[in-house]
Amino acid sequence: MACLQIPKCATCGAQLPPQRTGRPRRYCSGRCSKAASRARRGGWPAAGSAAPEAPADAFLVGHTAPTDEQVAAAVHEALLLAAAFRRLSHEARPQFAWRCASVADTLDHVLRRRFPAP
Ligand SMILES: [Zn+2]
Repeated sequence: MACLQIPKCATCGAQLPPQRTGRPRRYCSGRCSKAASRARRGGWPAAGSAAPEAPADAFLVGHTAPTDEQVAAAVHEALLLAAAFRRLSHEARPQFAWRCASVADTLDHVLRRRFPAP
């Protein structure tokens, strides 16, 4: 029987669109691909280093009426942040690992409760 598993983004877990040709996608977006690349290289850029191409709060700046797309972008960013904390909970020293796990659990819980997947 064919595998009916729905492919998901390796970073945020979002469902990936079906693909008929080419190598299977691993990430839902360039942003998730870059986040995974950063994670493989050893973490997020240090404070004071070059700013990421879109700061996490970019969707809040310069807009007076948030659109649904901006809300979706904010939720996606928060899911990426939760994934980063989840990864760190496995890789960080014990005194930080449990804190990272707690933050990841809390973010995941709140996001999935307030913004359940359609
Ligand atoms: Zn993703």
